[in-house]
Amino acid sequence: MISPQTIQQIQSRIDIIDIIGEFLKLKKRGVNYIGNCPFHGEKTPSFTVSPTKEIFKCFGCGKSGNAITFLMEHEKISYVEALRWLAKRYNVDIEETQVTDEVRQQQQAADSLYILNQFAKDWFQAQLWNTEEGQHIALSYLEERGFSHENIRKFQIGYNPQGGQVFAKAAAAEQFTPEVLLKAGLVNDRNQQLNDNYRGRIIFPIVANNGKIVGFGARVIGKADKAPKYINTPENDIYHKSRVLYGLYQARLAIDRFKECLLVEGYSDVMSLHQAGIENVVASGGTALTVEQLRLIQKYTNNLTIVYDGDAAGVKAAMRGLD
Ligand SMILES: [Zn+2]
Repeated sequence: MISPQTIQQIQSRIDIIDIIGEFLKLKKRGVNYIGNCPFHGEKTPSFTVSPTKEIFKCFGCGKSGNAITFLMEHEKISYVEALRWLAKRYNVDIEETQVTDEVRQQQQAADSLYILNQFAKDWFQAQLWNTEEGQHIALSYLEERGFSHENIRKFQIGYNPQGGQVFAKAAAAEQFTPEVLLKAGLVNDRNQQLNDNYRGRIIFPIVANNGKIVGFGARVIGKADKAPKYINTPENDIYHKSRVLYGLYQARLAIDRFKECLLVEGYSDVMSLHQAGIENVVASGGTALTVEQLRLIQKYTNNLTIVYDGDAAGVKAAMRGLD
């Protein structure tokens, strides 16, 4: 955690004109500065910054705050991320306070899952593109469904071979422990051995807003007889099904630009729409939409269009849960 002394040091150095001026053009008018509001479209400036009060206010849309909340809103970052941004800007050394053993253990568990997921994502991609099995079984299947190579790369799609323990052995060779492999849901330990949980499946990495891989969806190729069509990462230190939206990382700029977010059901629906040039789209992953997922969308827009009718009642229930 950032120490209170560091936070004080950062706050004492903030120059709100300097910070906001980084993102939009400000003109001096009297004691204040004015500019075109970045939060709502306008041609005549109604966005006012007061250097003496160290606040901003828009008389068009009503948005107001200080330099830190401006950064959080404008850059869509957290309070701590805004502090780190400012510390870097003003050359303030960040002093971290001691964290408890419990917190440290949680962080270590999360870190090892992120590292494993990154390794797994790269490995699955290599199987798809660079092996005969991957090309013949998985890549050709994706091509038949109309996905371009560019699109397949954009979503970092991969393939887990059919062998049964191919991934488990590759991960063990990289010193990943059985505990972290099981926790990540990439293997199971049936019959006292580590087996690939996603064998013979197409792998869709699920990317958090910071670009890190939090989990995977693994789809069976062709018709699923007894096996489930999708296997998803189980809940763990970094993957919480109710708090992620598939495709948001790839869609966030387009959602911002079009001020609208489309919601579809499945991972491949997101890819299909990208393939058609529509990029402001996310998927709930087949589960009922949650309040947390709606909040993720609300960071970018209040304008949500539901493109499937599978669970209209569930969506309405989630919306009622919003403040
Ligand atoms: Zn405004």
